[in-house]
Amino acid sequence: MRLKLKTVFVLYFMVSLLGLIYALMQLGQRCDCTDHDMSRDRVISRLRGELHSVREQMKKTEPTKLPKSPLPTIYVITPTYARLVQKAELTRISQTFLHVPQLHWILVEDSPNKTALVSELLARSGLTYTHLHVLTPHDRKLQEGDPSWLKPRGAEQRNEGLRWLRESTRGRQREQGVVYFADDDNTYSVQLFEEMRGTQMVSVWPVGLVGGMRYERPVVEGGRVVRFHTGWRPGRPFPIDMAGFAVSLRLVLANPESRFDGNAPMGFLESSFLQGLVTMEELEPRAEMCTKVLVWHTRTEKPKMKREEALQKQGLGSDPGVEV
Ligand code: UDP
Ligand code: MN
Repeated sequence: MRLKLKTVFVLYFMVSLLGLIYALMQLGQRCDCTDHDMSRDRVISRLRGELHSVREQMKKTEPTKLPKSPLPTIYVITPTYARLVQKAELTRISQTFLHVPQLHWILVEDSPNKTALVSELLARSGLTYTHLHVLTPHDRKLQEGDPSWLKPRGAEQRNEGLRWLRESTRGRQREQGVVYFADDDNTYSVQLFEEMRGTQMVSVWPVGLVGGMRYERPVVEGGRVVRFHTGWRPGRPFPIDMAGFAVSLRLVLANPESRFDGNAPMGFLESSFLQGLVTMEELEPRAEMCTKVLVWHTRTEKPKMKREEALQKQGLGSDPGVEV
């Protein structure tokens, strides 16, 4: 018998309709979920068991618990000023600082007000920070073309950082903390911060690529600093680069008058601050008795803008709306 195409269609339609009605009737019906519930219970109880045994394991491996004293905070004071490479420098060091626990960055702009570039960079940095600003007076500022050694840079900004620190930690004289002056163009190893964290008075270590030398460093004999390895005027009170020492917060708070002398002669800025605080014998050598370089006095080349300027003259310069 030949089936008519129409009959096939009708049959197909009927079967599909019945299937659909059956499926709709099943919706909302309680299922027999006993199996399902049981396997879920089994998983939960197995996980509970595993959690218990992991806890037991941890108890066994943990050393006898000592009451943990909180990690001393490292307050990093950084002077910074607007120039083409500023955002690159700040990005670089801020991302180093992200690797350091319990670090508070005090970034002090050499400017009449806080800039949007720095404010936004800080807000996105993920760091604990304080944003300050103070403009270096014109007569103290290095002018275009002046040799770089003529006047100290960043002195007012470091002092502003110290002022804020003293004010905001008032009444916390006993707090364990460390103060470090980190220029925005140097290169810092994350390890350096753990070396300085236990500073009692003033800790010191070598600085690479500074003072026309491969490194400068305090020379340690019998666990004490006895002199300094430097290429220039070793007789200065503290022939140490800014990046080569850290001071305890207690010492900073106990000496409310100590600050950087913005008029100090070349090479004496660090001494102007440290002189009233410690003696050479009291310095605490770090970085394996000052034998390891963990910070470098790198300096970033000023980018050349020849092509940019040429294009600007033709009205084809880079979009000034793009922040660099
Ligand atoms: N700095 C500043 N204002 C200036 C020049 C420099 O605040 O007019 C900051 C700079 O951003 C850096 C520190 O002071 O954090 C030291 O400056 P620089 O690195 O130029 O000095 P150098 O490497 O020659 O010691
Ligand atoms: Mn520098």
